[in-house]
Parts: sequence; structure tokens; C-alpha cells
Amino acid sequence: MPGSTVTFHGGVREIGGNKLLIEDGPDRVLFDFGPSFAPRYKEFYLNFLRPRPTNPVEDLLEFDLIPRIPGLYSREALHGSDLPYEAPRIHAVFLTHAHFDHAGYLEHIDPEIPVYLGPDTKTLLDTIESSGTVRYGTHPWTLLTPGSPVRIGNIEVRPHPVDHSIPGAYGYVVHTSSGTLAYTGDFRQHGPRAELTERFLAAAAEDAPAAFVTEGTRVGPDPRRNFSEGTVRSEVDRVLQGSPDLVLGTCYPRDIDRIVTLYEAARDADRAFVVSLKTAFLLTSVAGRPGFPRVPVPGHTPDLYVYGRPKRRYYKWEEPFLDAALDADYVRTHGRRLFLMLEMMHFPELIDLRPPKDSPFIYSMSEPFSEEDLEAEVLQNWLEHFQLRKHSLHASGHCSAPELVSIAQHLRPAQTFPIHTDHPDDFHPKGTTVVSPEKGVAYPIGGT
Ligand SMILES: [Zn+2]
Repeated sequence: MPGSTVTFHGGVREIGGNKLLIEDGPDRVLFDFGPSFAPRYKEFYLNFLRPRPTNPVEDLLEFDLIPRIPGLYSREALHGSDLPYEAPRIHAVFLTHAHFDHAGYLEHIDPEIPVYLGPDTKTLLDTIESSGTVRYGTHPWTLLTPGSPVRIGNIEVRPHPVDHSIPGAYGYVVHTSSGTLAYTGDFRQHGPRAELTERFLAAAAEDAPAAFVTEGTRVGPDPRRNFSEGTVRSEVDRVLQGSPDLVLGTCYPRDIDRIVTLYEAARDADRAFVVSLKTAFLLTSVAGRPGFPRVPVPGHTPDLYVYGRPKRRYYKWEEPFLDAALDADYVRTHGRRLFLMLEMMHFPELIDLRPPKDSPFIYSMSEPFSEEDLEAEVLQNWLEHFQLRKHSLHASGHCSAPELVSIAQHLRPAQTFPIHTDHPDDFHPKGTTVVSPEKGVAYPIGGT
């Protein structure tokens, strides 16, 4: 019998869209199943020009934007496509974390295929579904326990929590009949849960993987500064203390560790922290769960408020926050006591908020990778129009390239596969053969 293989159906020369298929004889397991957005997706689909919800697989297969894997998709998702429905031939899907580029196509997977994921990831997926339009479908969900192996035929998967810019992320060490593979998912060494990443790497080193599949987001040109969460906190403190009036900010809505950092900075600077309705719902949904310590809860935690931006109609999940919500008038008159979070899509609120000239805007998310980033340009236009001062204060969710080099050199796998990167050819650790994978090619694990 030939040995086991790994095939990369996404995450190849692109940041996101990871889809790894590990096969060992008859056993077939997928790791992550997220949409590929760049660059090919954007050649055909843009903003509201999207695959039809009635024919999703057909519309994605047309441009080779989803893999042609028999026995993977649901009958419903295959509607209209030339890929015939088959009973499941994939035995399990393992998710690393709840970001869209890893979990976003779960909805299309046959509802009989079990999905394994960390408990915090499940909590986040449920919350995202309840307050948005993304759907993940129904599946037999199995919650993982850190370090406890799951056996799928010949394949044994050991889940290990790692630190990333969303709580509950996992890396995996996968034992197959011809060798061991370690898969990082998305991870970092400088975040508030860095010790998780260290433990994952120690466990991976113990099992001496033959293949190392690593994310490489920051390989190649890297505009990101390697701030730690602690540095973000002290820099935010400085901005809050030096500002006589309103302070504005933005961060990834699900970067809960960052929300905690910013809330605590506001509280210690004697300011109330003001979040969007969606963030309020997210915080309320995860509060009290073991994976989400120190999470501030609207209505319970002091100095935490919700901004109730005007809408024609509110969703049911927004309603509980409306009575106590602040409006633009309040923010305008109490600015010096507030630190208000405002997502870019809600920027028209600035027209009513009228922040005083030179008010700080704390941009607590990653800088765009390309200089022609349209969103960055629009953001800049708004900041300039309202004469806001931008402070970029962010700890990236990803390891820096030098960190990845030293990790690969420490693990010394026979082969290293950089994925989730635009620049796999720029990754040069010593003592391991770097294979820049091609999409759809089955690579033997253990090098046979
Ligand atoms: Zn990712």
C-alpha cells in the first residue's frame, strides 16, 4: 500500500483559503475548508457579485475556486454542478479556528461528515451565525480536548491550542502510517497566549514530524511591526492619556483579546469603552466561558457602553442593548470620557459624531500588504476629511518570518510546506527541504 499523502487544495500562494487533505490508505481527513479570496477569486467575484446561494459549488468550480473532491459536498450544495453527489468519502474535517478563510465553506460540506473543532471555536461559529449572514451548515460537531488524540482509521490527530488573533485556535500533530505531519493553522509567538504556541511546538518537536505545514503570512515583504500585546497596551495608554477629547479606534471584531486590552486601557484611563451592537452581542455570548477570561460584558461590567447607531430596523439580537445604548449626541458632549470603537463600515457615523480636529484614531488591526489597497485608501480619505490622527497599534496574529525560520530549524522536518502566504519561495530555513506546494498535488508524508 502506498504511504500517506497531503494535498493542498487552497492556501497555495495566497493568504487564507486553507484546505489540506490527508489520505492514508482508505482514510481521508480534511483540515480547514475556507474560501480562497485572492487573487483568482477576485478576478470573477467582487463585493456583491458572488456565487449564487442556490448553486454555490457549480459557480465556484466554474473558475476552479473550490476543489473537485467526490464525496465531500452536500447534495444541496452540488445543485446544478457536473460533480455528481456521492455518499461521503471524506471521514472527518478538522478546523483550526473560526476565521472565515479557514471555516467559510463548511456550509457546502455533506451534513453527514463529522466536524472536529475546539470548544471556543464552536462558541464563536455559533455567535457569528446568530448575528450575521454566514452559515456553516449542520454537521455532527465534535468538540476537541487539548492533547487528546482522535483516531480516524489509520490517522491519529492530536489537537493543541495555539495563540492567534481569535481565541480558541488549534494546531495539529497528525500521525499517519508513513510519518507524522505538524500543521500550524494560523499562529503567533508574541500574543497574550504565547505559552500555548510554545506547548504546541514542544509537542510537535517530541513527535519529530517528517512534514511541517506552516502558515507563512508574514514571509516576504512584511509591513507589520512585531508589537506584543503588552506594547499595544502601553502605546494605547499613552494615546488615551494625552488626549483631551474623544478617542476613536477600530480592531477586528472577533479579536477578543484585543478588545479586552483596549477595554482595560480605557478603564484605567478613566474613560468608558464604547462598542458596537455586534461586539456587544459577541461579548455577551462568550462571557463566562472558560476560554474567554476577563471579557467585559455590557450591562454588567462598569465603564462599558454600547453605541446604538441609528437603523431603520434592529435585529432581535440587537434589541437587548438598545435601551442603554449611547447616541451620537451623547458621544459628542461626553467625548473626553469615552473611547469609542467604530468599524470602517460604520464610518458615516462620523458625520454625526463630529470628533474634534486632531482626535486620535487607534487603528488596531493589520496594515494592508499592498500599496494599492482600495480600502486603505478610503480609510485614509475619511481620516483626512475629519482630520483624525491615525495611530497604528497592533500585535499581528501571525509569527514573523524570522520566528518561522527558527521554528522550522528547531523542528528539522524532512520537508517544510509554507502555505497561507503570497511568498512561499522566500522562506529559507536550514536543515529542512522547503517545498512550495502546488495546488492539487499529493505529496507523500515521510518523503517516499
Ligand atoms: Zn488565515
